[in-house]
Amino acid sequence: IHTNPIQLDHDPIRTLGTVALIEDITEIRRLEKMRSDFVTNVSHELKTPLTSISGFVETLKAGAVEDEEVTMRFLDIIEIETDRLKRLINDILTLSEIENIETNLITHEIFPGDTLKEVADVITPIANSKEIELHTEVDLNLPTIYGNRDWFKQLIINLLDNAIKYTPPGGKVRLIAYKKYNNIIIIVKDTGIGIPKKDISRLFERFYRVDKARSRKVGGTGLGLAIVKHIVLSLNGRIKVNSEEGKGTEFTVIIPVNKEI
Ligand code: ADP
Repeated sequence: IHTNPIQLDHDPIRTLGTVALIEDITEIRRLEKMRSDFVTNVSHELKTPLTSISGFVETLKAGAVEDEEVTMRFLDIIEIETDRLKRLINDILTLSEIENIETNLITHEIFPGDTLKEVADVITPIANSKEIELHTEVDLNLPTIYGNRDWFKQLIINLLDNAIKYTPPGGKVRLIAYKKYNNIIIIVKDTGIGIPKKDISRLFERFYRVDKARSRKVGGTGLGLAIVKHIVLSLNGRIKVNSEEGKGTEFTVIIPVNKEI
């Protein structure tokens, strides 16, 4: 079949198609840039603890091992840096799993009331060991939602973990959950250090930290909230942040009660 090429070039649909293609390429470039920035960041983040570990091992081998006290101090640092590497690798794997379309299709029945209670029971001793009180006000009869149960758990763990990490001893963390209209509302509220206004819009970016040194000191990887954002999206939900420096922070997750897929 022969078509007239001149006629085709003037076909309005074809012109529209070209515009769409140009937009696609811009989007592909943007995604490529994001990916390569991520690889650069990951390499840098992995290199820091590795450099520290190999430095201390070398110093030990060069003679420091003869002093028992120094050896123990260095081994402690090596242990801390190794744990950091493990956390980083775990978080990177979790992020890539959440971004994988196939695992996104896994849906379980989630009973939010039970899961929230379960997570609170695990986190309470951790909070208490830092002299932080964890209050839970969770409606145990929340409606069932459908999604990946492990990720739902991870979402709550990350928010509570941050609340505890960024709240000084003597403070309080509250986990609240209830149903409103056709949504489940989950609130994690703390009386911690708060977040400056200028940083709020960038919080969910990978490796974004308000205070890098502080995050490092409390064992942060900078990926916790990026993971939270992706999990909330996988549940078709939304997340909001309210914070006041020196007073505390409140994260609100809104998840629609969906039908079984
Ligand atoms: P990190 O591993 O550094 O905690 P996250 O992605 O979990 O990384 O959080 C990003 C940054 O947001 C943190 O470094 C911290 O500065 C800030 N942040 C997150 N949650 C809180 C909170 N509850 N209170 C104060 N700051 C917080």
